[in-house]
Amino acid sequence: MTITSDSVVTLHYTVSAQDGTQLDSSVGKEPLTVLLGKRFLIEGLEDALEGKDKGDQFKVSVEPDKAYGQRVDELVQQVPRSMFDGMDVEVGMSFRATTDQGEQSVMVIDTSEEHVVIDGNHPLAGVPLSFEVEVVDVREPTQEELDHGHAHGPGSGHDHGHDQGQEQQQ
Ligand SMILES: [Zn+2]
Repeated sequence: MTITSDSVVTLHYTVSAQDGTQLDSSVGKEPLTVLLGKRFLIEGLEDALEGKDKGDQFKVSVEPDKAYGQRVDELVQQVPRSMFDGMDVEVGMSFRATTDQGEQSVMVIDTSEEHVVIDGNHPLAGVPLSFEVEVVDVREPTQEELDHGHAHGPGSGHDHGHDQGQEQQQ
């Protein structure tokens, strides 16, 4: 069947930056299973999947606006080192922090004796991405998957054992 905006799709993907640096890949691992339309995938990838069929392989380039968004300069902040309570703060460390935008993941991008510069942008914000995709399977969502808003089963991350079939077996 052809992929529509609420299909359950099982796919293999490899995502790279446009200089060819591979960022992530499912190849060699279990493929990913997702319910479309719930933004488990970035918008540009969901758009590209629509209309494809089981077995299709394709490449798609996705601009930041349809991926992780543009970088926001205001998310880079310099804070006093004293905020870290004597912790050994190093460039590249990331941690959860409460900021004006709520709780988010921030990364240390610079340090000095007095200050630490943290960046709350997603590491892939502002980065155009290239995807290589193989559509492994396509199916209709079950009513339960629609109710839950996510796919069930292998590769979905939601194999949480409360669907009716499993309850009846127990
Ligand atoms: Zn569920």
